[in-house]
Amino acid sequence: MKSARLVNQRRIIYVRLGPDGLRALVRGDNDIYIVFYNPEKGMLKCTCPAGMRGKLCKHALAVKTYVDTMYTRTRMYVDQPKPPSSALSVSRIHHA
Ligand SMILES: [Zn+2]
Repeated sequence: MKSARLVNQRRIIYVRLGPDGLRALVRGDNDIYIVFYNPEKGMLKCTCPAGMRGKLCKHALAVKTYVDTMYTRTRMYVDQPKPPSSALSVSRIHHA
């Protein structure tokens, strides 16, 4: 598959978690495109010509494949870490 090959070729320059989901920089054949991906909102779009026409392009698919694999494994995106405050309130309840 083309999208799998993109990942193998390390065309994804970076993936960052922004205020409205994930933002990835992908190297295309002639240009660099930005892919926006928010799994919770079901948003997946790319700045390449195909992506601007509303098509699901190979860049968007590559990022989705990469992110889904990575974040399903680590669950960093799904489970936001909140251990310190909840641990604190639990101990407070115990002492009260
Ligand atoms: Zn694209």
